[in-house]
Amino acid sequence: MYIALLHHPVLGRDGATVTSAITNLDVHDLSRSARTYGAEGYFLVHPIEAQRQLIERILAHWEDGASGTRIPDRKEALRVVRLVPSLEAMYEALGGRKNIELWGTSARTLTTPMVSFADGRRALEGEGPPVVLLFGTSWGLRGDTLEACDRVLEPIAGGRNSAFNHLSVRSACAIALDRLLSE
Ligand code: SAM
Repeated sequence: MYIALLHHPVLGRDGATVTSAITNLDVHDLSRSARTYGAEGYFLVHPIEAQRQLIERILAHWEDGASGTRIPDRKEALRVVRLVPSLEAMYEALGGRKNIELWGTSARTLTTPMVSFADGRRALEGEGPPVVLLFGTSWGLRGDTLEACDRVLEPIAGGRNSAFNHLSVRSACAIALDRLLSE
């Protein structure tokens, strides 16, 4: 299992395609969740080199700098992070798109079939290619990105009497990994 956080193409407030900035919290929190649930890697997907270089510097600071000495657990978590410019580059790093299964996530219920977390969990317990669990930023993954996934997981639903469903990607990632992988 790998996780991936996409920063382009993603939806903006008005449904247009945007490129979101990498936020430091997403780097740290998703790497801690990935490491906690045994994901083999966390792909941060961003097309702008300056953004990737900024994160490279932050990762180097934690690897070799004082912070990593002060908080070694965080240093260990951040080692799962892999920076790539695009989903295509991620597929190449994993031996090609045919070598993996791409599972999408969304807060919206789609017209295309969605997979329950229970079914996703069962699929992971069986044999099969590595799975990349894809998360979006901004206002979420575009429809064509979700359609290109092998499976799309059902939305994480809140409380029975709550129509509010706007989780941060950090919360959504932790909940999804727990539902799919927790012992
Ligand atoms: N309204 C957006 C959507 O429909 O996905 C929420 C965007 S949220 C800030 C960014 C990402 O967090 C989403 O692309 C998705 O990967 C994940 N996410 C947020 N809420 C979720 C939910 N209830 N179920 C599953 N994934 C969720």
